[in-house]
Amino acid sequence: MTVRRDHLWYPYAQHARMRTPLQVQKAQGVYLTVEGQAGVIDGLSSWWCMIHGYNHPLLNEAITTQLHMFAHVMLGGLTHEPAQQLAQTLVEMTPAPLQHVFFADSGSVGCEVAIKMALQYWINQHEPQKKRLIALNRGYHGDTFGVMALGNPEDDCPSMHRLFRGHMPHHVFLPSPRMGFDATPASCEAELAHAEAVLRAHHQECAAFICEPLMQGAGGFNFYSPYFLNELVVLCKRYNVLVIFDEVATGFGRTGTFFALDRIATSPDIVVFGKALTAGYSGHSATLATTAIFDAFKGDTMATALMHGPTFMGNPIACAVAQRSIDIMKTADYLAKIAGIEAQLKAAFMAFHHPKVKECRVLGATLAVEVYHPADLEGLQAYALKKGVWLRPILGVVYLTPPYIITADELDQCCGVINSWFERQ
Ligand SMILES: *Cc1c(COP(=O)(O)O)cnc(C)c1O
Repeated sequence: MTVRRDHLWYPYAQHARMRTPLQVQKAQGVYLTVEGQAGVIDGLSSWWCMIHGYNHPLLNEAITTQLHMFAHVMLGGLTHEPAQQLAQTLVEMTPAPLQHVFFADSGSVGCEVAIKMALQYWINQHEPQKKRLIALNRGYHGDTFGVMALGNPEDDCPSMHRLFRGHMPHHVFLPSPRMGFDATPASCEAELAHAEAVLRAHHQECAAFICEPLMQGAGGFNFYSPYFLNELVVLCKRYNVLVIFDEVATGFGRTGTFFALDRIATSPDIVVFGKALTAGYSGHSATLATTAIFDAFKGDTMATALMHGPTFMGNPIACAVAQRSIDIMKTADYLAKIAGIEAQLKAAFMAFHHPKVKECRVLGATLAVEVYHPADLEGLQAYALKKGVWLRPILGVVYLTPPYIITADELDQCCGVINSWFERQ
């Protein structure tokens, strides 16, 4: 089939000089067939969502079973078991205060909903002046308009959306936490003191603090300390600023626990799941809120209600496949598999040194190898593909976020490709 390439507008692409995207013919397990080349391991799980791999029989079955009942109904005035069941499952899996689930169709919109909940919470509390947000440099919360503003245009890692700086609200930013996952409490103190100073100065105008807990994903796979995160949540609560965790990237095992929030003693007021929520089989997100938030929307009129309702929210196919994915993760003890992946990645990279490599980081089923100069990763994608692995470095970081079903041999192949890319230079 000959098709004109530019009928299709590709993401994050300069169409005037982009390489032709590679044609995928088939996908099975961890393998893609790309441009006729079979057996290419997807080292990224297609932007870290295909956690059980492709064409999984149990996920396919969950989708087809629901498809034969009904593919979709509106959630306005109607409801159904797949959405009810998934909401209950998510509530049971998360900390007790989180009791209420709002579904939407993508991670970005899930975060928009979280922001809207936080802002309206304060409006309903008669504190409408609390309308700014506090976010972390290098954070990523999606590409829609509200979350675009959560990338700091002054960040040393240029925000993708800095072009729009004059069009967006101005939020408050904390530096990207750089102390690492294993940092001692003492080495977090300076950053915590800075965060407290910012909270002290701005809490009266701030509705919420939003972050990707423990792992900043698209901003370069930066891992940070659970102690720091926990203390930051405590500070936010002390200063009357709500806490939103964007677990769109970290949720469902990626950092080694079911959720990143499982590693801390406190819990957020709002949390967002997406990407791996449906194991990548369907775009969907879940925004969970505490009862304190939910109750603040109750009243005698619609004036205090949450006026939001994406057409495809709670789509029954998305909910059915999400539920099945969670069932698989629980029954097949995926956390043990992820611990195995983590151990293997650590064994392969924690002692890896190369003059071009600034740092190797491993957490859960995620590897990040950061170079000093992004130019040193040019050509890596084609090199890896020749060796049967699909990779796509971002911001000077080559990373692995493999499907959890990857075998030790397959993971070895992925590690070997990254390793040999540097060794041959
Ligand atoms: C991918 C991502 C989003 C956006 O999700 P979409 O489904 O692409 O809209 C938001 N937050 C984080 C942390 C992400 O990784």
